[in-house]
Amino acid sequence: MKHRLPLGWMSVWIACVIGAWAGPAQSLVLTTRHVYGREYVAMGDVMRVFGLRGQVNRDRTVMLTSSQVRVRLTVDSREAEVQGVKYWLSAPLALHSHQVWVPAIDVVKTLDPLLRRTGLAAAWPLRTIVIDPGHGGPDQGTHARNGLSEKVLTLDLAKRLQVLLTQRGYRVLLTRNDDREMSLDSRSAFARAQKSDLFVSLHFNSSAPSAEPRGTETFCLTPAGAQSTSTKGSTLSVADFVSFSGNRFDNDNVVLAHCIQQGLVGRTGAVERGVKRARFEVLKDLTCPGVLVECGFLSNASDVRLISQSTHRDRLAMAVLAGIETYKKAANR
Ligand SMILES: [Zn+2]
Repeated sequence: MKHRLPLGWMSVWIACVIGAWAGPAQSLVLTTRHVYGREYVAMGDVMRVFGLRGQVNRDRTVMLTSSQVRVRLTVDSREAEVQGVKYWLSAPLALHSHQVWVPAIDVVKTLDPLLRRTGLAAAWPLRTIVIDPGHGGPDQGTHARNGLSEKVLTLDLAKRLQVLLTQRGYRVLLTRNDDREMSLDSRSAFARAQKSDLFVSLHFNSSAPSAEPRGTETFCLTPAGAQSTSTKGSTLSVADFVSFSGNRFDNDNVVLAHCIQQGLVGRTGAVERGVKRARFEVLKDLTCPGVLVECGFLSNASDVRLISQSTHRDRLAMAVLAGIETYKKAANR
């Protein structure tokens, strides 16, 4: 899939996307316009393309809905919510010439795959899944005050998930089966060598010294031309335009992340911290869809109480499995 980048103040992006919610093959044609130096799409066009009703509220939130869709955006803000999951746009929603404008890259790389399940490029059938227990060896990752270390928990969770996925007929491989050091690039290299169809890296989070944040968040690779979630300011850098092999699966990546995030929140009751974008080393060079899941905070006492329980780690594994199965259904239309 290629987007023809606009040269003028107004131009057309054509995303050759296949399929719709339940419809025939269909192209997404967007008229974009430079607003504050970025490509934006008028909200009216977004509503038309996705068949949504729109309402702008006094608090500057914009609700876009249909019988199947619920999207919340906020003027001058990057925060968004799509089907109950938080997202961060690559640039703030803009108010310009008495119209609301949505960053074009977010329409193409977030809304379109999530709302229409378009452009999914994963190899089919989905057979080999590589699970990556984060950290290992001298790299402990983060740790809880009760002594639990991230590297032990990620391996424990990976093995539980391996059992569940194997029972469902997948070929499941772990980047490490014991407590050993592994570089980040050797993890994605392992997935490439094994011709993996899917890659899931497992981690636990920390916000120390703050003990307050809790919950789960799921990362996928930032698309070329967009800013990562943690980037402050609104200026794109040269690095934001670099495309990696993992970007071939931008649409799969965000749908997989969405499904796993929904699975985790729905099945474990975790605090929903959203799908985030980052150019993580472990995701950049993949040749299959991949995500990195942060399964809870070891710096938060409530999360640690849960994570310390074997039954909760079983629930986490079941939730990731459910997310993968939902993605599989979405991709196997
Ligand atoms: Zn980690």
